[in-house]
Amino acid sequence: MFLDTTSRHNLLTSTAMHRRSLLALLATLPIVPRAALAQSAPRIVATTGMVADAARRIGGGAVQALMGPGLDPHSYRQTRSDIAALTRADLVLWHGLYLEAQMEDFLNDLAARQPVVAVAEALPRDLLRANPEYPDRFDPHVWMDPALWAMVGETVQAALDGVAPEAAATHAANAEAFRAEIAALDAYARAVLGTVPETSRILVTAHDAFGYFGRAYGFEVLGIQGISTESEAGLARIGELVDLLVERRVAAVFVESSVSDRSVRALIEGAAAKGHAVAVGGELFSDAMGPEGSYEGTYIGMIDHNVTTITRALGGEAPAQGMQGRLAAA
Ligand code: ZN
Repeated sequence: MFLDTTSRHNLLTSTAMHRRSLLALLATLPIVPRAALAQSAPRIVATTGMVADAARRIGGGAVQALMGPGLDPHSYRQTRSDIAALTRADLVLWHGLYLEAQMEDFLNDLAARQPVVAVAEALPRDLLRANPEYPDRFDPHVWMDPALWAMVGETVQAALDGVAPEAAATHAANAEAFRAEIAALDAYARAVLGTVPETSRILVTAHDAFGYFGRAYGFEVLGIQGISTESEAGLARIGELVDLLVERRVAAVFVESSVSDRSVRALIEGAAAKGHAVAVGGELFSDAMGPEGSYEGTYIGMIDHNVTTITRALGGEAPAQGMQGRLAAA
């Protein structure tokens, strides 16, 4: 693994626990043998782009993602064509941890009839951040910490093995390559984010999607809206954040591709009225990946884009082409 800091040391012991809980989880799945389909690739449907990306990387085949670029998983509800695709799928992969709040009941019902796996639910609870708005729930945005996403990859791999055991060796090789790339991404993020001056390590975004990112890389994270996008930020919250921007001379705040930028604009106007200019540091991919077919339309590219954009906007040094630029220069 690539967990080189003491603060994340306990991840190693948790991984063994994670494997055990994963096996327990998979034992409960109603695995339907694909005897009749043995020659064809399994039909795999995933909810978010990030989960679909992991399944493509590890499975090596096509995976249908229900939520494309710019779609908000907190509010997304399955369409008629989604229902058709989900019920026909050999394997349905969703995120869980209450991310797909509007689809949860449907997916839980579906799980009684066919292989349906909530891939983030298998993460050890002690690695999850609490959700301050709902004490019995967790912050679902685990893809923001590459080390956690690598663990989610293990669940994806096990689920793929379940529906295509004959391809297990391929899955294992693909998973190994994916993990290595995630490790390189984590090392890149640590290196460039470390160049941001310590007093500038404050990340202000439209909603609270970056908590795991902040925990992994030592940034204070403030979302205008909460963990979910379901409730709008109140005027009091905006006022509080404006004061903080002015007091701490925060240079930039960030918009998100899947959330309205209205509240971010309100912050910038509020700070300007108090004589402090705040820039839009760029657009981050929080809950959805970038355009399909682009580098940002992959998990690695999405996080690379975020890391590079945040670093440059907050006064650190990162290559213009991000991790790709760094690899090309090496
Ligand atoms: Zn979110």
